[in-house]
Amino acid sequence: MIQTHLSRRAICAAAFLAATALAWGPSQAQQNGPVALTGARVIDGTGAAAIENATILMANGRITAVGPSASVTIPANATRVSMTGKTIVPGLINTHGHVTVDDNTKLPMPAHLQQVLKAYSDYGVTTVVSLGSSTLADEAEGFRIREAQRTGVPDRTRLVTAGMNAIGKTPEEARASVARLQSVKADLIKYHINGRADDMTPEIYGALVDEAKKRGLMTAVHIFYLKDAKLAIEKGTNALVHSVRDQDVDTQLIDMMKRNNIGYVPTLTRDLSVFVYETEPAFWQEPFFRKGLYRYQTEVDILKNPKLQEETRNSPAVQNIKKALLQANKNLKALADAGVLIGMGTDTSSPNDLGRWPGYFEHVEMEMMAQAGLTPMQVIKSATGDAARIMKLNDVGAIAPGKAADLLVLNANPLTNIRNTREIDSVWIAGRKL
Ligand SMILES: [Zn+2]
Repeated sequence: MIQTHLSRRAICAAAFLAATALAWGPSQAQQNGPVALTGARVIDGTGAAAIENATILMANGRITAVGPSASVTIPANATRVSMTGKTIVPGLINTHGHVTVDDNTKLPMPAHLQQVLKAYSDYGVTTVVSLGSSTLADEAEGFRIREAQRTGVPDRTRLVTAGMNAIGKTPEEARASVARLQSVKADLIKYHINGRADDMTPEIYGALVDEAKKRGLMTAVHIFYLKDAKLAIEKGTNALVHSVRDQDVDTQLIDMMKRNNIGYVPTLTRDLSVFVYETEPAFWQEPFFRKGLYRYQTEVDILKNPKLQEETRNSPAVQNIKKALLQANKNLKALADAGVLIGMGTDTSSPNDLGRWPGYFEHVEMEMMAQAGLTPMQVIKSATGDAARIMKLNDVGAIAPGKAADLLVLNANPLTNIRNTREIDSVWIAGRKL
């Protein structure tokens, strides 16, 4: 009994710490007065039915009211912006991105990180959870950017970062790795299980997860295999940030995930990117892609190389990923049907992996999730409210009083076709139109 009480208290303390660590300060103030967005269809991110002819009221970077226009009183000093004909959803949350440097980085490192964040925000992704820095220097720059955003007003995508991946050759090293990450104020802990001989043993990553829990930090794991997913959850891991791709998920996994409220992040575009450049993909010509060329051009030029495309075509490992992606689609549908918490995530800008476009691929990811069998409403919820729940981001992911005023305004209704998320009118962060 005593043990049960202790562990419950420890869990509560951990949850509290995690929540406070990720909260943005009250200083997201905007100098202007309140703003009322009127006449839009609003999809609030919770999965609730859309509100037609709604008004959203914002002040000091936060939402203060939302509802049918008839029910929201607009203060006399508010600036009114007509949104008739638009659909407004919460700014998108990418639960698995990377804001870091790689071999193809051309800009100085700080400018590179800022450019990646700009690409995300240009495409309506207003929060990114970066799950792995490449170097200690860009890890530190990420924390610096994050602090500036949280004490000021972000002018581009909000950065939540795990810093470098936690790792160790012994349980003690794994614990020390987590301790270091907490000392530099990582928002969460990410680690890798690849299903290879050089993986951390369950004993080692069990210590890693235990140390993170003790310190009030949530853990996210890279997995491929069903058995590794189960072991990671048994050890207390909070989120699987890739799909199970070796076999069908079973009721045992589903039960474990639901019982422990485990988040599942499919990252379907990650697998797409492994094989899609065996030829020139048609989407390179899409205007919606091309508006990101200021960030994408360097990698497009590399991937245009016919020799590289031929290598991709002839690689058995690459071709095997096509099968893995089919398995991922099937598992996503099964887990969503079972009521498992799904978060949109992409692995975009992963260091030294080509062709994972920050911003553009989040829209492809949502389309692929719909093709796997999710409804547009399920997809939107996974990219907003449920993404925030998985990553314990209490301030974002919903259009509700008290939440940050991070909004994606669309010219078409994504509930009728998920590709309408690409019809971007404007992106708002902390109540400010970018
Ligand atoms: Zn990743």
